Amino acid sequence: MAEAMPLMTASEDLRSRYKEGTVFIDGAFVALDNHLTVAGKQFGDTMCEVGSGNSDTIDAAVTSAAKAWTAWRAMAPSARAALLYAMADRLSAEMDQWIALEAHHAGKPLSDARIDIVSAVMTLRWFAGFADRIDGRVVASADTVHRYVRRESLGVCGLIVPWNFPLLMMLWKVAPALAAGNTVVVKPASLTPLTALLFAKLASDVGLPAGVLNVVPGPGDAAGMSLVRHPDVTKISFTGSTEIGKEVARVAADTVKRVTLELGGKSPTVILDDADLDKAIPASAAGCFGHAGQKCAARTRVIVSDSRADEVVERLAKIANGLKVGDLSDPTTQLGPVIDKKAQSRILKMCQDAQSAGAALVCGGKAPDQTGPYVAATIFDHVKSGDTLAQEEVFGPVMAVIRVPDEQAAIAAANDSDYGLAATLWTRDVGKAHRIAAQIQAGTVSVNTPAVVGIETPFGGYKQSGYGRELGVEGLDAYLQSKAIIMDIGS
Ligand code: NAD
Ligand code: MN
Repeated sequence: MAEAMPLMTASEDLRSRYKEGTVFIDGAFVALDNHLTVAGKQFGDTMCEVGSGNSDTIDAAVTSAAKAWTAWRAMAPSARAALLYAMADRLSAEMDQWIALEAHHAGKPLSDARIDIVSAVMTLRWFAGFADRIDGRVVASADTVHRYVRRESLGVCGLIVPWNFPLLMMLWKVAPALAAGNTVVVKPASLTPLTALLFAKLASDVGLPAGVLNVVPGPGDAAGMSLVRHPDVTKISFTGSTEIGKEVARVAADTVKRVTLELGGKSPTVILDDADLDKAIPASAAGCFGHAGQKCAARTRVIVSDSRADEVVERLAKIANGLKVGDLSDPTTQLGPVIDKKAQSRILKMCQDAQSAGAALVCGGKAPDQTGPYVAATIFDHVKSGDTLAQEEVFGPVMAVIRVPDEQAAIAAANDSDYGLAATLWTRDVGKAHRIAAQIQAGTVSVNTPAVVGIETPFGGYKQSGYGRELGVEGLDAYLQSKAIIMDIGS
């Protein structure tokens, strides 16, 4: 398809390394009978067919990973570090191709895809640095007793990844898992398996031993669930919807797997009376509309005190209306499509329902004039905290403005959610910032900045946004367990 050509061309060499119809097991592309078609998200152009795994495929991948674990965990930690650094270097050297491919198959503007791939390189490097710094400890004991703690890998980890940040979410898991000495089987999202498969090939090309990193796309209820059920998988790290996450936790309980769940969110921006609006307003727009709102930590509720609400809404609308809607291949595009037509219809329907429920549509609420499943940046004003739009994840560029009388009401509204992934607070009062940050029920609270993710800080949910943490040292601990060794060394 002509319109998709710039992205096609830009990732041609990279894509040519992939063997159609395969999955990546035991260090090689393995052909399967069943296939999934991978399409570009703006024009629906067919990119390729990938192998679609079932329980037998998952079993083969787990068997390979289990076999590889013996040598991988015994290897010098510095050698594991070197391999992770080598992956980062190769990814960095081929940056532009990976950006084009991710933009094309995940449906994100080039500017968003660039952030993903740059962050992916940084994530690999950060966890590589830990591989040879995972120390145990000697424990206080009588002289005739020697006791120490070893920090050991878990074994084969099953990593289940969503479509919104295909490579980055995969590497948030793969990098710490491998650094800690585990081997892995990755189940990428069916809509976006390509960068995962090609990354497995990259890792193999820089010398990663066969079986350490396997990638098997396939239906969630078949391939994904087989991984969750498999008795030889010791940990599942899942990022995706809350509904599927609950099912994963239930099934994983049968074999007492360790489980990390990174689930949905309905994260708030809280703008207090004394906020610097020149900073708060563009940041709040970006926090909600970035990647067309398809971010787990999108700040989709803007909670603002009555006294500033008119100004805030007017200025937010000006930004929303001015966002450049365009083709994914245009580097100046700010608002790209949502993931598919189904998502587009669902989001537009939620907008209609919000209007019927009495919310005031300020802008958007419709599909802009653009080829592909786009949704205009949308703002609803006068949303009440209990309304569906303030409670349910939309996963599209839709903002709910909730007006509150005072600070206490703002905190109450911020916490009035089943979710608790992230929150952003705007105030010039430092003491107040600390006090409120402590009261907000969320895994991350950012103050006077829209940034809610840092590789060095833990990321994850309070309440039904999940449990366990990724990134930070907590993200490494999630792939380790402690063994106590107790020895009598008396005569
Ligand atoms: P999803 O739950 O539909 O799918 C996520 C992954 O799980 C996919 O690989 C899918 O194939 C697999 N899967 C589906 N059914 C399964 C089953 N029965 N057993 C095992 N695996 C199964 O989510 P999605 O639509 O791909 O992603 C969007 C969701 O992810 C949103 O809710 C978003 O908030 C969430 N998300 C959370 C974070 C976070 O860090 N908290 C990050 C990104 C996305
Ligand atoms: Mn889904």
